[in-house]
Amino acid sequence: MHTETSAEPLIAGYDGVVCDLDGVVYRGADAVPGAPDALRDMVTRGIKVVYATNNASRVPSEVAAQVASLGAPATASDVVSSAQAGAARLAHELEAGAAVLALGGEGVVEALRDAGLTPVSLDETDGRLGHDVVAAVLQGFGKELRVRDFETAARLLTTGLPWVATNDDATLPLPWGQSPGNGAYIDLLAAALRRRPDVVGKPHPPLYDLALDRLGSRADRTLAVGDRIATDIVGAEASGLDSAWVLTGVDRPSDLVVSGSSPTYVVSSLAQLLQPYAAPVPEGGAWRCGAAQVTRTDGTLRVERGSAAPIEVVRAGLAALLTLRDDGVPREQLRREAGALDRLLDDPAAPTR
Ligand SMILES: [Mg+2]
Repeated sequence: MHTETSAEPLIAGYDGVVCDLDGVVYRGADAVPGAPDALRDMVTRGIKVVYATNNASRVPSEVAAQVASLGAPATASDVVSSAQAGAARLAHELEAGAAVLALGGEGVVEALRDAGLTPVSLDETDGRLGHDVVAAVLQGFGKELRVRDFETAARLLTTGLPWVATNDDATLPLPWGQSPGNGAYIDLLAAALRRRPDVVGKPHPPLYDLALDRLGSRADRTLAVGDRIATDIVGAEASGLDSAWVLTGVDRPSDLVVSGSSPTYVVSSLAQLLQPYAAPVPEGGAWRCGAAQVTRTDGTLRVERGSAAPIEVVRAGLAALLTLRDDGVPREQLRREAGALDRLLDDPAAPTR
């Protein structure tokens, strides 16, 4: 975790941003409050932004249109998708124009075509095309996929064809709850094939490599921003990028302390990237961040909040708990203690103790 406080805006240390979408720029159909303005301000400062998405079913122009409709700067070339990362991987391995089975939706088909490969749709392969024609399989989420499409893929993959998957998210969040995601459909095939695909989406580095290519920025001058620890923060760490964990999405402080991750920055919104970052610093037996001071005694966080913003309390509290985590304190205990930080974020007026 970052421990230096600077008078410069946090973002001044970077030339490029790899920005997650759901939970950072929008939630469902609505913009995260303040996010479009913050992204516009960054671009005005000359910082390049690409949006990195594991969603392989939508084409980049569709994603960009949604982001732009919310008021944030976005064109199709500002979107890097896991389908594009998968197609880039196969284009590197196969001859130009090679036929690739598109086991997915339109996002997979378009990415293959744009990478100079020939997408083969499932209807064309039914019982006809074999591995003498099809050179590889690219698997991504597709709402129209049928059982017999997985059967076709299994028939081709059983011969040992290259198999790349866009992402391995086990679940797909929908308004009513969790539905099976691409990872679940990978498991379906893997159970029959007794092998697994190369996965290119977050938290795996190929999507970040593609984003860096697109940005043209150096890794040490690029910030990865996201709300999910297991994909966005783990992926940034695996790719050697600094990370900003944004608390506008699903994961809470109690999720971070049971993970193995330590994001470089913890921010409550994208707007904070444009402000100086108050970093937590150890002081005596306590952690201080801005006006907040947190000590831990008898397995409880004790907060002196003063005039501090909730995010400063959260940074100081997380610094204390992550130090304990790294010293081997049981994670379930840390999760319980971090509950106080979760509650502070959900209700800033609640007493902290
Ligand atoms: Mg997200």
